Formats: sequence, C-alpha cells, structure tokens
Amino acid sequence: AKCPANYVPLTPLTFIKRASMVYSNRTSVICDGVRFNWRQTYDRCCRLAYSLRSLNIVKNDVVSVLAPNVPALYEMHFAVPMAGAVLNAMNTRLDAKNIATILIHSEAKIFFVDYEYVPIASEALRLLVARLERTSNSTEYAMPLVIVIDDINKPTGVRLGKLEYEQLIRHGNPRYPGEDLEDEWDAIALNYTSGTTSDPKGVVYSHRGAFLSTMSLIQGWEMGTEPVYLWSLPMFHCNGWTFTWGVAARGGTNVCIRNTTAGNMYKSISNHKVTHMCCAPVVFNILLEAKPHERREITTTVNILTGGAPPPSALLEKMEDLGFHIMHAYGLTEATGPALVCEWQSKWNHLPRDQQARLKARQGVSILTLADVDVKNKDTMESVPHDGTTMGEIVLRGSSIMKGYLKDENETAKAFQKGWFFTGDVGVIHPDGYLEIKDRSKDVIISGGENISSVELESVLFKHPAVLEAAVVAMPHPRWGESPCAFVVLKNTVSTSESKIMAYCQKHMPKFMVPKKVEFVKELPKTGTGKVLKVELRKLAKTLRIS
Ligand code: ADP
Repeated sequence: AKCPANYVPLTPLTFIKRASMVYSNRTSVICDGVRFNWRQTYDRCCRLAYSLRSLNIVKNDVVSVLAPNVPALYEMHFAVPMAGAVLNAMNTRLDAKNIATILIHSEAKIFFVDYEYVPIASEALRLLVARLERTSNSTEYAMPLVIVIDDINKPTGVRLGKLEYEQLIRHGNPRYPGEDLEDEWDAIALNYTSGTTSDPKGVVYSHRGAFLSTMSLIQGWEMGTEPVYLWSLPMFHCNGWTFTWGVAARGGTNVCIRNTTAGNMYKSISNHKVTHMCCAPVVFNILLEAKPHERREITTTVNILTGGAPPPSALLEKMEDLGFHIMHAYGLTEATGPALVCEWQSKWNHLPRDQQARLKARQGVSILTLADVDVKNKDTMESVPHDGTTMGEIVLRGSSIMKGYLKDENETAKAFQKGWFFTGDVGVIHPDGYLEIKDRSKDVIISGGENISSVELESVLFKHPAVLEAAVVAMPHPRWGESPCAFVVLKNTVSTSESKIMAYCQKHMPKFMVPKKVEFVKELPKTGTGKVLKVELRKLAKTLRIS
C-alpha cells in the first residue's frame, strides 16, 4: 500500500541534504575569494529558510530576487522552497518598469536585491508605489520587504531598507529542516518568459517537474559526480536550466562569476579546472573573439551544454577546434529549460568534423523524463512524416512541462491543447528520429507561398568568413509578399559588401531563399537573455529599400 515509507513527494530539495552528508568537506561554492563546502552551504540554506519563516513567509508566498550569479542566489534555490515558498529569480537585464510589473503580478512578499542592482530596484519600487496608489481600492498587495545582498567578498555597505542577506543567515537556525512537502505538485519556482515574442508570462514549476527535469539533464549530459560547474549561464534563466539543483545532486562545485566576460570565463576554467558549463550560442562569440591576454589554453575537458537559440554548425565546429566539448539542447521556459538534447551516437564518431557539427546543430531527442515530443500540423493535429523536410509545430508532453502560467488561464489554455504543450516553434523530424527546429512560428518567412526558415538561412550566413552575427527576418516584397532580409554584424578584420554576401548566398542555397536585402549593423537588438529581438528587426526591415 502507498505509505510514507514508499511514497515520498519528489523534490530537488533532497539533493542538498544528501550533498551535505556525502560531500560534506568538498567545495560547494566558489566566488572570487569566498569558498564554502557542502556542509556549510546546507547550513546556510537551513538558516535562511528559518529566517524567511521568521519574516512571516508562509507556504506559496513568492520571494523575488534580482541578482547575478552569486552564492546567495544559489542558496535561495534551496532555502526559499525549504521555507515552503516559491522562488522568483528575475532577469537582471529587465528595466524598472518590468521589475515593478513582475513584483505586482507575482505579489512578491520579499524582494532580495544584489547591491549592484539597488539603483534599478529603487526605481522599480518607486514605480510600484505609484501604481499601488493608483489602484489602492482594487488590490490587497502591499510593498515587498526589501533585503539587500551585499558583496560577499568585499562588503560595500550599500543598503536599501534595513536588512542585509548575511544578517538573515546569522540569525537563522542551522537545525531547521525546512517545511514538510505535502504534495510534489506544489510550486517550487516562478520564472517569467523573456518576452521575445509576447509579453512576459509567469511560468510556475512544481517540485515534481523540477526534480524530474534535473534528473534527466544530469543523466542526458552524462554529468558524473564531483563536476566543477562554471556559472556562465544566469541562474535566473530557468533556474540555471535546473543545474542549480543538479550540481548539488552530483556533489559538484559551483564556480560563480558576476559577469560573463571572456576573461572571467577563461580564468575560471583554468584556475578551477572547470568540467561543465552552460551557455547560449552568443557566448561562443565571446569566447572565440577573446583578446589574447584574456585567453587561456583549454587543457582539460570542458563540456558545454548550449541552447536557447540555434547554434550555427559553423560556430560549433570552431568551438570544438578550441577544445570545448559541446552538447546541444533545446528548450523553453515552459519546459523547465532543456527538453530535448542532441544525444550523440557512437556511429557518428568517424564522420568528418563538418558533418558531425551539422548533426550536432540539430535539436535532438526528448530527455528521458519527457513523455513525448512530436511535430504536428497544427490544423489537422497529424504528425508530420519523418522526412527531414515537412515542417510542423513542435509539441511536448511530460513532467518537465510547467504547471501553467500564473493568473493567466487564457494563455494556459492556449498553450495546452489536445493533450499537448504547443511550443510555438516550427520544426522537422529526420528519418533517424532527431528533431530540427526551423523557426519560431512567428518568424517563418513566407515568400511566394514557400516557407523559408530563417534559422537555415542564418546558418549559411554564419559560415561566411566576414560574418560575426546574422539574423534574418521577413520584409515586405511587392512581388513575393515577403522576402528574406538579412541583418549582419561584420567582424572587424574582414571586409565585404552586400552584393558579395548575396553572391555567397546564391552559391549555397536555393534562389528563392536568397535574401533580397543585406543590411550591415553594428549590433543586433537582443533580449535580456541574449536572443535576437526579431520584432525590432522586422520593424526596421519595413523601412529599408531593396537595392
Ligand atoms: P522566450 O520565448 O521569451 O525567448 P525562452 O527563453 O523560453 O523565452 O525561449 C525559448 C525559445 O528559444 C524556444 O521556443 C525556441 O524558439 C528558442 N530555442 C531554445 N533552444 C533552442 C535551440 N537549441 N535551437 C533553436 N532555438 C532554440
């Protein structure tokens, strides 16, 4: 029979208690000069959870935090849910207006702010007060309690309100075991989508989903015990794609850096012998274009899990030439991070490198705990044939999928249809069962009735020696309705021209796909998580003339 001995709610919170026993003296967190071991990290989490309860945090309350990758943010991934509350790690690149909107929408009870973000947080709080005054009759939401996280290495004394993070740690109880989790379906975290294609939405995760995703990813990436994990991916991005919890599960070491600069990354890799790191493909350019004094030779195996945007195969190849070992994953906020990984097969080991890179650039197969993935025609709900060319919408089903959008039944109902979660991405399935994304449905270019994948076009442009970055969007075309328009950022070192790039495209793709316009820009507009804002580019493309 089902009883407390054989049926225990699934939660990643069990990982840290285990790490504190099994890996007690092993370094858990490094941040410049500060180091903790797993016993200390667990002790700090218990203390913090206790202090949160003392500050009247109760089950299901939201605790927001605005901080870069610092030890406090890592600890909060355990301490906040240990107190029964829900962690809302905010994107540090949000503006004051968005921060205020999220605080109000989530009804955050406590707002932790890293000292570097005090100016923007103050501005957000001012906006929040103004909005609450305007709507005072219709809302019961009160101001959140603000707590500053000072620099753990060199305290600055910067404050916003009376409390500082380390005070909560000092006054906490290290023997507080955390609240009992009654239901694994309870919320553990709330993350807002980055709003690349629509307004940010609050995605709610369950303990169960977080646990299963974490387990799948450490397995899918073959992360063995005692990894040294570099925080090159923001922890606020889907809770670090679950590796906040995953590193504890494997008794690893978290190397925290405030800024993802080439210098910081190379230095950490070489000083701490980093074995694993995650990042979006934009970070590849930072590593590849590093100045000679920032660069260090890669002498140990550094595994990178990349995703969040399509990694052009040309970039994958260059990164592997530098000595990095790359695995590609695809996911979205609604799927707790990566939901597919491009699982490597030994039969590919002997293929030429460019062919390997092309296989790797595909988004892959579902992680083990995702029940199912498919590509369907949205109207008929029929699965597309596995021919690598028929496009359809990517749909997912399984425990990694969010509980739903916070306070947004309409959007939740739109996302969940006919037993599937609709990703809004368009892809194909190859004969070997591997999925390849072709575009976001909103970004597909329809030219003279033909669907053109912007992703495919961009990957060709990336192979051009003068191109640093490229993004392709639809522009109005008198004859074809829409036609592709390419925005290109050039490398400083190589010169080229619009007609040369077009000639290059003609050689490497069917004629109808060739961009009718190539516009050189200094940089591409990006979201807080480094994704190209195609909405902005489409607006810009409308103002351009085809030469
Ligand atoms: P937003 O949709 O607001 O940008 P997310 O961070 O959840 O927020 O982004 C998820 C989206 O990013 C996916 O729907 C997909 O379009 C894109 N994406 C994620 N991983 C990959 C990948 N490996 N290749 C191509 N696109 C990806």
